[in-house]
Amino acid sequence: MRPHHRRRAPTAQLPDHSAAGSGSEDLAMSRIAIVGAGPAGGTLAVWLARAGLHPLLIDAERSAGGAGWRGREGDGLRRAIAQARLDYRPETEVIDIAADRRLTLLGPSGQAVTETADCIVLAPGATERPLPVPGWTLPGVLGLGALQRLLKQDGMRPAGPLALVGSGPLLRLAADQMIAAGVHLSGIVDAGRPADLRLLSGLARRPGALARGAVMEMRRRLAGVPLYHDFPVAVHGAERVESVELSDGRRLEASLVGLGFGLQSNTELARLAGLTLAWNDAWSAWLPERDEEFQSSREGIFVLGDGAGLGGLTLAEAEGICLAAGLIEKAAKPLPPGLAVARRRASRRLPSLRKAGQALAVWSQISPAALRAIPDATIICRCEGTSVGSVRNALADGYRSPAAVKLASRAGMGLCQGRTCEAGLRAIVEAAGLPPADFPPGTVRLPLRPVPASAFVRTEPDSPEQGHRSA
Ligand SMILES: Cc1cc2nc3c(=O)[nH]c(=O)nc-3n(C[C@H](O)[C@H](O)[C@H](O)COP(=O)(O)OP(=O)(O)OC[C@H]3O[C@@H](n4cnc5c(N)ncnc54)[C@H](O)[C@@H]3O)c2cc1C
Repeated sequence: MRPHHRRRAPTAQLPDHSAAGSGSEDLAMSRIAIVGAGPAGGTLAVWLARAGLHPLLIDAERSAGGAGWRGREGDGLRRAIAQARLDYRPETEVIDIAADRRLTLLGPSGQAVTETADCIVLAPGATERPLPVPGWTLPGVLGLGALQRLLKQDGMRPAGPLALVGSGPLLRLAADQMIAAGVHLSGIVDAGRPADLRLLSGLARRPGALARGAVMEMRRRLAGVPLYHDFPVAVHGAERVESVELSDGRRLEASLVGLGFGLQSNTELARLAGLTLAWNDAWSAWLPERDEEFQSSREGIFVLGDGAGLGGLTLAEAEGICLAAGLIEKAAKPLPPGLAVARRRASRRLPSLRKAGQALAVWSQISPAALRAIPDATIICRCEGTSVGSVRNALADGYRSPAAVKLASRAGMGLCQGRTCEAGLRAIVEAAGLPPADFPPGTVRLPLRPVPASAFVRTEPDSPEQGHRSA
């Protein structure tokens, strides 16, 4: 890791937290809150619970497993969570982290509640990286993750023809899952760099992944699904999606389009918590800084898994195991049976898993020439209706900082706080020749998601009598 640009979010500093994380007895008595029940956070929570540390595990999803273990492969983790002694809150989102380590949670009741933790572990995973293509706002264009979710979690098989457009391993993985489910695919359009040498050398470290890739490629050929190496010109349709146009004028018929140009680490909570983010050359991304023990720039706040750099589920799980052993030792508790061996094995694998993850990220990158060819009229920010051209105009007018480009173009200033368009904005800026390391991610403001005001209104009875009556 070579951080050469640093940014500190302009939030209040945490008070010196010598109480948690430093003294072993303190940690044994303290509350550990984990955000994210995927392979990283879920694995960590289960081991901590086995050691008697009774963590709080918060996850936005209905069931644990995160993005990687949505299907049956997550059954083991879900069983372990159900049997463990921990405070598990599914369907609950963390919408704020305050300087005093107070988390604001929004759960199924619709009422915001606060929880204070002495030690917080952020394991929020990754998000999809959508890029603007003409017509990507048409009904019928979905993220690749949304398609996977429909299939794996909700058991819904999309009616074809389906065209998949994007780059990176998730594109091929999603295609393979659709082929296996018998979905009619009209084509896969890969705009990434599957033949990049860095990718191939990284994959050589993961012969298992290479073999799985070869099997997927064989299944694609057997199913007769065409693969195009191209950046799509446009998605067409009158009321909804009808076809995808390629650069040579060919059209792929599609009643549904899955779109996704790789993944990006989810750093929203890290930014909200005021952690230092640094530009990471190896991952080509702005990531939370952390030490060897996964601790961020703020004592007592740790970052794990894909949220700290895209590495895949094996790396996320390995990091969960290593941090669990570290925190249990800090709490002066004995390691539960099996954890010492699991930690040894996991920590041995961390360097090569990280290198493989960094190499895989290359696949998702799009050539600057393709990005420059996106027409000016293409919508980039759905909330504000801003076009790619207005971002380019802002750059041409000399607006160079992220805040200035946002203000001048209004891209990223809508309700979603740039969640959907920030990746596109960065891509357009990079393609215009501005170094990504000079363009730090935008500020995140609470609440993390648009939340109804009623979430913060207490409907407590005016008097005990009233309360008695209504009970
Ligand atoms: C859309 C998508 C599809 C993927 N598909 C595959 C696949 O098919 N096969 C594969 O091998 N890998 C897949 N991956 C990659 C794989 O999921 C990850 O590498 C792995 O799951 C990382 O584990 P993690 O624990 O770091 O994060 P995740 O597994 O992503 O888990 C993070 C969890 O944190 C929760 N979370 C995030 N923010 C908050 C918040 N504010 N409040 C509460 N909870 C929050 C999320 O809901 C999620 O459950 C996919 C990734 C994505 C993003």
